[in-house]
Amino acid sequence: MANDLSALREESRRLAVELVKILAARREVVNKIADLKKASGQPLVVPNVEAEVRKAMLEEAAKHGLSVETINRIATIVFSDAVEQQQAKPKPALTHFDILRRAVELQKNGREVQRLEVGEPDLGAPPEVRNSTANAVLEGYARYIDSRGLAELRAAIVKTVYERYGLEISPENVIVTPGGRFSIYLAAKTLLREGDELLVIDPSWPMYRQVAPFVGARSIHVKTRLEDGWTPSLNEIEKHISPSTKAIILNYPNNPTGKILDRITFNKLVEFATEHGITIISDEVYADYVRNGHVSILDNELGKQHVLIQSFSKSYGMTGYRIGYVIADKNLIAKMASIIGLIITCVPEFIQMGALTALALKDTPKQYAAVMMRRMELAVRELEKIGAEFYRPDGGMYVFPRIGKLGDDAMATAFELLESKGVAVAPGSIFGGYDEFVRISLGASDESIVKGIRLLGEFITEKGSKRG
Ligand code: PMP
Repeated sequence: MANDLSALREESRRLAVELVKILAARREVVNKIADLKKASGQPLVVPNVEAEVRKAMLEEAAKHGLSVETINRIATIVFSDAVEQQQAKPKPALTHFDILRRAVELQKNGREVQRLEVGEPDLGAPPEVRNSTANAVLEGYARYIDSRGLAELRAAIVKTVYERYGLEISPENVIVTPGGRFSIYLAAKTLLREGDELLVIDPSWPMYRQVAPFVGARSIHVKTRLEDGWTPSLNEIEKHISPSTKAIILNYPNNPTGKILDRITFNKLVEFATEHGITIISDEVYADYVRNGHVSILDNELGKQHVLIQSFSKSYGMTGYRIGYVIADKNLIAKMASIIGLIITCVPEFIQMGALTALALKDTPKQYAAVMMRRMELAVRELEKIGAEFYRPDGGMYVFPRIGKLGDDAMATAFELLESKGVAVAPGSIFGGYDEFVRISLGASDESIVKGIRLLGEFITEKGSKRG
C-alpha cells in the first residue's frame, strides 16, 4: 500500500514535469511562428488561429471528461504566455505620469505650462459638499459602517436611478466604492478568474488593459478607427471573443475620444454580449458630460450581466474624495462588499455624507457639463484652425485629434512638445497604440485650452507632420 502510494506519487510528479516540458516545446514552436509573422508583418495575436487551438484542446478534454472551464483557462494562460514571450522587449521608460510630473516641475520653476494632460475637472466640489463633509467630520460621522455603504446614500442612489432611468432597483443592487477606478477593479476581481478574458474596445482608458493581468486575466483589444467615427464593429468583436471571454468594458462617453454610441449600436452590443454570456461593465463616469444625451446600460433593465460604474469625481468635481458606486446584480454586489470589507472595511462615513449632499444638488452636474461643453466648442474651433482631424465629441472631457507621426516614439514627442512649447498632453500611444493622436483634456481654463492648441499647431508645423 505504502509502496503503491509512493509509486503513484512519483508518476504524478513525472507527469507534472512532463507538462512543463510540453509547454517549453510549444514555446519554441510559437517563437518560430512569431519570427515568421514578424518577417511578413503579420500581427502577433490571430484570434481565429487561437480559436482553432482552443477548440482542439476542448475536444480532447471532453474525451477525457476534463472540466471545460479549467481547460479554457489553461488555454488562455498558454496563449498569453506565448504573446508575452513574443513581445519580450524592454518596457518604455516613460509614462504619461512622467509628463504630469515634468509639467508640475516646469511650473514650479516659473515656466508657463498649458496643462492639457490631466483627466481631472478643475471645478472642484461644490461648497455645499465641502461644508457637509467638514461638518460630518466635526459631528463624529467617522465610524465603521456597512461595507456596502450608508443606507441613506444607497437609498438616494436608488432614487436617482429611478428619476434618471425610470428603473426600479433595490438597495441590494448598490454598493458605494472608493471611486470609479476601484469599482472597475472590483468588477474585474469578481467577474474574472485566472485565465479568463476581458474584451476592451480601443482607444481605451489605460486602466482597462492594466486591471486584467492584475487579476490573472487577459485583456483582448478590438480596435476602432477615427474614419469609422470610433464605432466598434460587431463583426470584429465577434472575431475576438472566445469561450474564455467573461466580460466586456464599454465606456461611453469615451475617454479619450468623446464618442457616445448611438442607441441602436449600443443596444446591439449589449444584446450580443448578453447572448454570449458575457457580462457588460459599462463605465459611465462621464454620463453627465454630454451635448445631447447619453445611452446607458440602465436604459432598459438591470440584467444579471449588467454592471454600471459611476463616480462622483466628474459630475460633482469630487476627484480627491474618492467615492463612486456600482449598480449590479445583488449576488455580484455581495461579492464586491466582501472585498471592500476585507480590504478597507468601508468608504469613510463623512465622505459618504458629502456624497449624499451632492446627490441632492440636481443642478451641479448640469452646470459642470455646461462648462465642459463650452470648452469643447472652444477646443473644436481651435483644432479646426490648426487643421487637425478629429471626431467631434458627443460628450466627455477630452478631444482626441490626429496630429500625425511626428517622431518614432509618441511619448518622446509628447515630452518634446512639453519642453519646447510648454504644452502637456497625453500621447495617444497609452490608449492602445494610437501613436498619431494626442488627448487634450478640457479640465483646464479656456485660456489654457486656446493657447495650448495654438502652440500645438506651431509644434506640428515646425516638426513637419507626415500625416497618413
Ligand atoms: N473611468 C474612466 C473612463 C476615467 O477616465 C476615470 C478617471 N480618469 C475613471 C473611470 C475613474 O475615476 P474615479 O476613480 O476618480 O472615480
